[in-house]
Amino acid sequence: MTAKVYFVVNIDSDPDPENTPPNNDAVMEKYRITKEILDDHAGGKGTICIHTSPMYRDRFFREPFMEFWKSWVDGGGELTLHPEEDLYSTPETRLESGTYYNDIEHMDPILRAQARFMEDNNLPFAAYKGGYHGLTKNIVHVLKKIKINIDLTCAPGIHWPEKAAHWAEAPLEAFYMSSEACWKKAQKGEESSMFEIPFGWDGQRRDASPNRLLDEHYLVNEFSNYEALCRVWDTIVDRAAKADSPQIVSILCHTYAMKDNELSGRCANILDYMTRHEGVPVTAREAKKIYDEM
Ligand SMILES: [Zn+2]
Repeated sequence: MTAKVYFVVNIDSDPDPENTPPNNDAVMEKYRITKEILDDHAGGKGTICIHTSPMYRDRFFREPFMEFWKSWVDGGGELTLHPEEDLYSTPETRLESGTYYNDIEHMDPILRAQARFMEDNNLPFAAYKGGYHGLTKNIVHVLKKIKINIDLTCAPGIHWPEKAAHWAEAPLEAFYMSSEACWKKAQKGEESSMFEIPFGWDGQRRDASPNRLLDEHYLVNEFSNYEALCRVWDTIVDRAAKADSPQIVSILCHTYAMKDNELSGRCANILDYMTRHEGVPVTAREAKKIYDEM
């Protein structure tokens, strides 16, 4: 038996100050390369993050980026709201410990303002993705209010409580979130309006304790290699076949890597491999619809 595996290309657009010169042209060039790869190897289906942070609160909500987001959506792609509150802190705002994701008074107005701005520009967000895999019930509550009902933060197996990442026991495939905890699948009969699409994972841990960071056991282009990515994909396809049921996962990649020929080539190659082996690229909204109709 075989069963399809639907995948969402989950693109993190952080400009990465170490790898990307700070000017807009340099960032934009990488975004364009990413779009070409997505168009040529996944039919334009994928969701790209719009970054907001203490360092760049509104930078990506202005031109030339607004025009690019429009072309992204016109080409069949979707947009993800992505606050990077800790990693892109300024010296004045950097926390000594903990995370802004636990501070809903800080998060609430940011999420609302950025979502409203994009809605007013007819480019509403389809999904949300936290930095460091951080997500809280309070954030989910706000997301529902601002009509974002798909989350792409979940990294099953990852446990980093200081960053609000509690995914050690999370399901390996898409699920509706329980009101009890972000990592928990809603019980049968429990009403849930938050759809979670986790990163693809082969279920293997490097050592006994849950990891903090993604590695070659995940579908993550930049922290792995082609052979490992193929192996993880094959494991997910096997899982779907054994369960005799389609699965939905995401594959993570980062725009900062896309001027590196090896990394952008790897991204194109793994997308080709996935579509040759039972994979169907879908947007996050399409994934939710497929799950709803399953
Ligand atoms: Zn990020």
